[in-house]
Amino acid sequence: MRAFFIGRFQPYHLGHHEVLREIFSEVDEVVIGIGSAQESHTVENPFTAGERIMMVDRAVGEIKNPGQKVYIVPLEDVYRNSLWVSHVVSMTPYFDVIYSNNPLVIRLFREAGFEVRRTRMFNRMEYHGTEIRRRMISGERWEDLVPEPVVDVIEEIDGVRRIREIANTDF
Ligand code: ATP
Ligand code: MG
Repeated sequence: MRAFFIGRFQPYHLGHHEVLREIFSEVDEVVIGIGSAQESHTVENPFTAGERIMMVDRAVGEIKNPGQKVYIVPLEDVYRNSLWVSHVVSMTPYFDVIYSNNPLVIRLFREAGFEVRRTRMFNRMEYHGTEIRRRMISGERWEDLVPEPVVDVIEEIDGVRRIREIANTDF
């Protein structure tokens, strides 16, 4: 059985990690979509699709068995919700079931006839991309909210300096 899970992963954090841990306990293979793949270098979307692939690829090594397979697929926005599921399907390996907690994602896949399974939320106050980016900009501690391999990737790309610089206004 192959599952699909999508996020923007700006950055990949422990909430995503716990959801995927549960998914890997239920299925053999997971297709992970990197949403808004065209976006980078903004406060909302600081990291490129390639950088997010690195985060996801290294982190899932902690939660899947060696026999389980993961496909990581960058997916650009299409700005037309009625075409979005076809777009995703055209870019990904075949999957049997989708996991999501996002009402629009759930609605669109159900309308297209897919089996959708709801995911739980884990410590949403802290395991939340917006909160992690806020902490990076304000110089607070964010490293405990993401898997260790993600800290490594963000250090390698000097990601905190990037988001702080782009958060500054013209002077
Ligand atoms: P942002 O604030 O940038 O939107 P986010 O934490 O919501 O960040 P996304 O990449 O938008 O991260 O999330 C992808 C999917 O992961 C969403 O459907 C979301 O519901 C789910 N998710 C996000 N945080 C958690 C969490 N703490 N526990 C469980 N699921 C989560
Ligand atoms: Mg979100």
